Amino acid sequence: MSSLLDAVVVGAGPNGLTAAVELARRGFSVAVFEARDSVGGGARTEELTLPGFRHDPCSAAHPLGISSPVFKTMPLHRYGLQWLHADLPMAHPFPDGDAAVLARSVAETAASFGPRDAGTYRRLVAPFTDRTDTLFRDFMSLPRTALPRDPVTLARFGLAGLPPSTWLMRRFKDHRAKTLFAGLVAHVMAPLGGVATSAVGLVFALAAHAEGWPVARGGSQAISDALTAYLTDLGGAVHTDYEVKRLDDLPPARAYVFDTSPTAVARIAGLGHTYEGYRYGAGVFKVDYALDGPVPWTAEEPRRAGTVQVAADEREIGTALYLASRGGKAPERPFLITVQPTVADPSRAPEGKHTFWAYGHVPNGWQGDLTEAIERQLERFAPGFSDRVLARATAGPPELATRNANYIGGDIGCGAASGLQLMLRPRISAYPYHTPHPAVFLCSSATPPGPGVHGMSGHNAAKAVWRRLRQSG
Ligand SMILES: Cc1cc2nc3c(=O)[nH]c(=O)nc-3n(C[C@H](O)[C@H](O)[C@H](O)COP(=O)(O)OP(=O)(O)OC[C@H]3O[C@@H](n4cnc5c(N)ncnc54)[C@H](O)[C@@H]3O)c2cc1C
Repeated sequence: MSSLLDAVVVGAGPNGLTAAVELARRGFSVAVFEARDSVGGGARTEELTLPGFRHDPCSAAHPLGISSPVFKTMPLHRYGLQWLHADLPMAHPFPDGDAAVLARSVAETAASFGPRDAGTYRRLVAPFTDRTDTLFRDFMSLPRTALPRDPVTLARFGLAGLPPSTWLMRRFKDHRAKTLFAGLVAHVMAPLGGVATSAVGLVFALAAHAEGWPVARGGSQAISDALTAYLTDLGGAVHTDYEVKRLDDLPPARAYVFDTSPTAVARIAGLGHTYEGYRYGAGVFKVDYALDGPVPWTAEEPRRAGTVQVAADEREIGTALYLASRGGKAPERPFLITVQPTVADPSRAPEGKHTFWAYGHVPNGWQGDLTEAIERQLERFAPGFSDRVLARATAGPPELATRNANYIGGDIGCGAASGLQLMLRPRISAYPYHTPHPAVFLCSSATPPGPGVHGMSGHNAAKAVWRRLRQSG
């Protein structure tokens, strides 16, 4: 390691690793320091239950990963990353045994909403479906990190996306489209009535039509391992088992880039009250299952889907989100996001067996056990589910926060996705990646464009860093 590095990155999550790669490929010397004994942050894979069952403890479905403008510029496939698709990106079953789907094809999706809403859905997505690449690049570079390539489509998307999702849902007549859409918004744990939440639902829907919601072959760890291998080839260094508590713990560098919570960077770099107003959101309770067969969904569509949303209707989703984020109670009927990686990637489990995960929302810091409520909810849509369980590993807010310091109180978004904080995070500023310390930068999902494995916060932060480094010679 040279005596003065150009940049040190704290945290080897997808954003930290992306920031490091982006700097290294521009010729800057970079080293990454990670608290855990392995890289990956929220994109990792572990045998959490039984031998041969490879679980993703955090991210599993990657609509934003495969569509990521920055990942597309990297040769990650050469380092082993391969995206695998289930027949359907996502399905949402209903208690009557029927289901709505988010398919690769707009027509199939629209048809699943029924005749009264099919046309509305087609008209909603039509202006964007053949421009998704540019739109995602423009949208995920806000605010002010790149000039929009297609400002007209971006403005049009802004008009469609800025209203609360509850307004957008009013365009649909039946509960099928409303419910599927409400579930999409809940992926970032945003309250359905929040400003710009229509954009959240639209981004996930457009991503499905553009490139799908794949899993990574072998597990999400493959994403982190590919980023790390590429970084190493570019000359970057990665140090694990190295928790950073003070800036002095790090080697001298011209820039320090934090893939941490705003609270942690303020504490470590002595930034005082800079992020005092930053809010953390609801937590989650997650269960990873080893199953001795596929999930016995009553409806046929979810059996072919990578991701399955579970709730009877949009009201149930709204109530579950409200109770967890504002009501201070765990919902009796949690809204579940579930992923069944083995539908697309049988290598994750012994032959004929499956891995499956489900999580529901709970209040920040909640210490209870949601397993029973989760399984009751699953049994409504997949009777006999519990009989297929060989083993389970549970993690509520305290366990999630112990695993990863960024999940404060179990908030897997590293900050509430509500109010202005959905878009303007970690504080209202045109330069969200800068901090009051000229050499300290933030690159985690607490910065735009927010949660998800896409690396765009890391890319945008790296851009702020390399501009500063070039200015200072
Ligand atoms: C249960 C769950 C399910 C999810 N599902 C999906 C999904 O299906 N699809 C999707 O796209 N996203 C999903 N996510 C979200 C996704 O994992 C995160 O948004 C993403 O990982 C954020 O990346 P990051 O680099 O900002 O932070 P992280 O991935 O959280 O990485 C931060 C890293 O910094 C390290 N660190 C923190 N503090 C320090 C310190 N002081 N010193 C050294 N190292 C430190 C941490 O150990 C960690 O490795 C899920 C998350 C969870 C928890």
